[in-house]
Amino acid sequence: MEILLWVLVLSISFSSMEFMAWFSHKYIMHGFLWVLHKDHHKKNHKSWFERNDLFFIFYAIVSAVFMLMWGEYNFWPGLPIGIGIFC
Ligand SMILES: [Zn+2]
Repeated sequence: MEILLWVLVLSISFSSMEFMAWFSHKYIMHGFLWVLHKDHHKKNHKSWFERNDLFFIFYAIVSAVFMLMWGEYNFWPGLPIGIGIFC
């Protein structure tokens, strides 16, 4: 039963992030944070790093924080939530 709950939390986390990716791309990245996202669509630089990569770093930190909550504070949903965000 515990594994089903774990899979459910991971599935909800993954599905929520799919919605969040769509929502943030449409309304945030192409909205008030366009200044960070435009170099993803208009390649006029020679750097390996794009300002757009900050979005990936942000979600990687959020995922890592949930995994740390699992590892350090015994917050069991932290691992499936962190993996769901990571996926
Ligand atoms: Zn875009």
